[in-house]
Amino acid sequence: MTREQAAGLFALLRAAYPRTKIGDDTADLWLDELAKLDHPIGEQAVRSVMASVRGWPSLAHLGDQVEVVREQLRRKRQEAERRAEVLADEEMPRPPLRDIPVVVEFLERMRIGVAPTLERASDGPCEDKCGRTGERCWLGRVRVCAKCARYRLNAAGQAIDSDGEAA
Ligand SMILES: [Zn+2]
Repeated sequence: MTREQAAGLFALLRAAYPRTKIGDDTADLWLDELAKLDHPIGEQAVRSVMASVRGWPSLAHLGDQVEVVREQLRRKRQEAERRAEVLADEEMPRPPLRDIPVVVEFLERMRIGVAPTLERASDGPCEDKCGRTGERCWLGRVRVCAKCARYRLNAAGQAIDSDGEAA
């Protein structure tokens, strides 16, 4: 901290122990020691000293409190880091599959890769008896829904002969 900040904290100490006469040498020593500290640490340490020591404190008292404050700060920092880690983990985006470009691309390829090779049949119940009714396409001699067609083609390694039959 600056010399001025140190003087401010020293004045605080003197105000806390009004009956103690402080010599110039002692004052200089305190100002030197305080100036070595970060201001927030020094201020907290001085306040701790004032709260815990009845008579004018020694520099050793200040040193003890500085250690206590530093340890508290260390723990607070660790705690904050842990919290930040937890937050970062919670906020890690977990987009639905349809928002992941690679997946969308893959699904598109599947759909486009299968559909044009098959002849569209009349709408009706899927003859693979999956229970779906609606759009169908010819797969060999059966009319199946797109889902069953895709399933069969995948099972067949997507090999289709010239008749449009799944090999
Ligand atoms: Zn089906």
